[in-house]
Amino acid sequence: MKKSDLKTWILTLNAGSSSIKYSLFQYKGKLRVEEKGMVEKIGEESSYFEKSGGRKIKVKAQNHGQALGVILKDLLGKIDSPSSLYGVGHRVVHGGEKFKDSVIINSRVLKTIKKFSHLAPLHNPPAIVVISACMNLLKSVPQVAVFDTSFHQTIPERAFIYALPYKFYTRYRIRRYGFHGTSHRYVTIEAARRLGKDVSSLKLITCHLGNGCSITAVDKGKSVDTSMGFTPLEGLVMGTRCGDIDPAIIFYLAQRGYKLEEIEEILNRKSGLLGISGISNDMRIVEKKMRKGNTRAKIAYEVFVYRLAKYISAYLGILGGADAVVFTAGIGEHQRRVREDVKKILNPILRKCGTRILVIPTNEELMIAKEVLRLLK
Ligand code: ADP
Repeated sequence: MKKSDLKTWILTLNAGSSSIKYSLFQYKGKLRVEEKGMVEKIGEESSYFEKSGGRKIKVKAQNHGQALGVILKDLLGKIDSPSSLYGVGHRVVHGGEKFKDSVIINSRVLKTIKKFSHLAPLHNPPAIVVISACMNLLKSVPQVAVFDTSFHQTIPERAFIYALPYKFYTRYRIRRYGFHGTSHRYVTIEAARRLGKDVSSLKLITCHLGNGCSITAVDKGKSVDTSMGFTPLEGLVMGTRCGDIDPAIIFYLAQRGYKLEEIEEILNRKSGLLGISGISNDMRIVEKKMRKGNTRAKIAYEVFVYRLAKYISAYLGILGGADAVVFTAGIGEHQRRVREDVKKILNPILRKCGTRILVIPTNEELMIAKEVLRLLK
């Protein structure tokens, strides 16, 4: 057997601020996930390694480099040698305006990703550490970066420019970037497959409703508008993020004595479902409490559903109708009541446009592995 025949493994890595998640795929004509796992609580005393279906094992992971070491050591038990890896796919949150597509990583690419760290300070730096470590430890294995922002690089200027002095765009690159692109792209392709149509003939509205929530208008397979903006704070109501608010609220709070960092923390971590309900960021709990008659849970739920319906109808408007509204991620896939209540509000317009509702489980890891295959072929 030729050595290249052995290169059937693809590894995907998703580095967050305090975790690394991985998936190991085998490619034999088709991609099949063989194993998933993660190292969590990196930098803390209590860091642990967990494979899906397995138990938590306490490990030493003071930093992302050590955490990657733990994962690779475990994987080598399965894949024999790093040389049997076909490629590694990295989730990178921010690719700025530079990366309109996934890319094979070299030192120049890595340098450019570093340049965008200030745009995603919690996410790009750990990804950079993990990519650099992989380039050192797995020298002969190609590394691919898949960006959350790249799917949205087709959004036209009229949708990505904020109505601020234009120099803020030219000088600081303040604009709508959009996020969750890998998920929106995956469900777009999957929706076309399910509808038995070519993606180029479809208008879709894809709703990624997890802890973070975003919605995208997709025309002929291309993102033409999305609800997250310069950061993932804009748009829909989320678990702990406020989404759209009047920016003047920030000045008002500052005048009331709140510090800027406090306001940032409140808008990102203490708002959304959690902020309104005062109970939880978890839609399952909010919905349950609402059913039991809790008033604040009901307000949180209704604000969430109303904002979502408002965005869907705006996107139906700019697309001139849609073939389908696609729901994905935790809430989108599992919270039937949210879909039904959105449908109740929008039924007349959905009927008029002949718009179907689809539920498609997202699979960002599979999308990343497919990108590795596409780029390295
Ligand atoms: P993340 O954005 O962190 O990947 P998820 O996609 O898992 O998060 O979404 C989390 C949200 O989805 C929570 O509000 C949770 O209530 C909801 N959710 C997740 N799983 C389920 C489920 N099986 N049934 C109902 N709701 C779920």
